[in-house]
Amino acid sequence: MTAEDGEVPATTQTTTQHVLHNKADCPSRSGRYSANPVSLLKPRPSALQRLLSTLAVLEQREGKLNHGSLSAITAAKSLGGPVHGFVAGSNIKPVAEEAAKVDGVEKILAVDNAAYDKGLPESYAPLLVENIKKGGYTHVIVGHTSFGKSVMPRVAALLDSQQISDITAIENENTFVRPIYAGNAIATVESTDATKIITIRGTAFAAAEVANGSAAIEDGVDPKAELNAEWVSEDLAKSDRPDLATAGKVVSGGRGLKSKEEFDKIMLPLADSIGAAVGASRAAVDSGYADNSLQVGQTGKVVAPQLYMAVGISGAIQHLAGMKDSKVIAAINKDPDAPIFQVADVGLVGDLFEKVPELTEKLKSS
Ligand SMILES: Cc1cc2nc3c(=O)[nH]c(=O)nc-3n(C[C@H](O)[C@H](O)[C@H](O)COP(=O)(O)OP(=O)(O)OC[C@H]3O[C@@H](n4cnc5c(N)ncnc54)[C@H](O)[C@@H]3O)c2cc1C
Repeated sequence: MTAEDGEVPATTQTTTQHVLHNKADCPSRSGRYSANPVSLLKPRPSALQRLLSTLAVLEQREGKLNHGSLSAITAAKSLGGPVHGFVAGSNIKPVAEEAAKVDGVEKILAVDNAAYDKGLPESYAPLLVENIKKGGYTHVIVGHTSFGKSVMPRVAALLDSQQISDITAIENENTFVRPIYAGNAIATVESTDATKIITIRGTAFAAAEVANGSAAIEDGVDPKAELNAEWVSEDLAKSDRPDLATAGKVVSGGRGLKSKEEFDKIMLPLADSIGAAVGASRAAVDSGYADNSLQVGQTGKVVAPQLYMAVGISGAIQHLAGMKDSKVIAAINKDPDAPIFQVADVGLVGDLFEKVPELTEKLKSS
C-alpha cells in the first residue's frame, strides 16, 4: 500500500513540522480535530521579519473570471495583511475590473498577454515568480485546482520553497491544516519558508463575493519567458447541468449502475428532477459509464454540496475523500453493509433500478 492508497505509513519525512491526528480520533465526519494542536507547537518568529502580504492568484477562462478561484482571496484575507490579486491572459482588463470589486483586496496585478490564456505551467510559473519577487509577498495562495496543481509546484521549486498543498484551514501565518492519506489523517503543518506557496481546498473556503470593493489595478511584470511548450487543443465535456465542483446538489452513480446506458437512463433524470450536477465513482468512470471530469474522490473532484446522493456506490475511502464534507449525504445501495451507509445521513437499502426511477417520479411531481 502507498500513501496514494490512503494507508498511513509508520513514518513520514518532510521538512515541515507535522502534527498528525488519526482520523479515528476525530469526532466529526469532516475529520476536524476538536483539540487545538497548534497550542502544542512552540510559536516561532517569522522566518523573515517581513510584513505579511499575500498574493491571491485568480483563474480566468476565455476572459471570464472564475468565481470559484475567489476562495483564494477569502483564505488570503484570513491571514491578515494586505491582499493583492493576480490575473493574466488576453484582454484581461474586464477580468481585473471584476476582481477589483472584491471587498478587502488592495490591488489587482494584471498581465495582458495571450500567452497566459491557458495557464500553461511552463510560462505561468516564471510569470508568477517575477511578480512574487517584485511584490515581496510572504504568502501566495491559489485553489487546489488543475491549474493550481500544475503551476504551483514549479513556482515553489523556482523559489526554493516547499509547497503546502490542499489546506483546509489556516491556524496562523506559519501553520496550516491539511488532510492527508485520502482524508484518513489531518496534519497540522508549520512552514518556515520565507515565501509560503499554498494551494487551498475550495470547499473549505467560501468564494469571496464580487461586491463594492475598489482595488487599484496595476500592470504586473511580464517576463515574456521563451515558451518550450505549446497549447495544442482541448476537448471539454459540455453540459447544461450545474458545475460539479460548485453545485449545491450532486447525484453520483457508481459501478452498481452496470452500464453507460443505465447510468444515463437512471442518473440524468434524477439529476434534472432536482437541478443537481452529476458525479461518478472512479469505478463508474473506469468502466466508461461517465466522463472522467465527473469523477469524485481522491483522484477526482472534491465536492461539499448541500446534498450528495450516492447511487450504487460502495463508499470506498478514496471516494469518501471527495465528498464526505457534504452537508447531507443520502445513499441508495442494495447492500445494507455497504460502507457508504456509515457516512450517510439518510440511507435507502434497495435495488437502485427500482428505487431511483420511483424517487425521480416523486421528485418531478412534487
Ligand atoms: C490510488 C487510488 C485512488 C482512487 N481514487 C478514487 C476516486 O477519486 N474516486 C473513487 O470513486 N474511487 C477511487 N478509487 C477507487 C476506489 O477504491 C473504489 O474502487 C471505487 O470507489 C469503487 O467504486 P464503486 O463504489 O462505484 O464500485 P463498487 O465498489 O464495485 O460498488 C458498487 C456498489 O453498488 C452496489 N450495487 C450493485 N448493484 C446495485 C443495485 N442494483 N442497486 C443498488 N446498489 C447496487 C453494490 O452493493 C456496491 O456497494 C481509487 C483507488 C485507488 C487505489
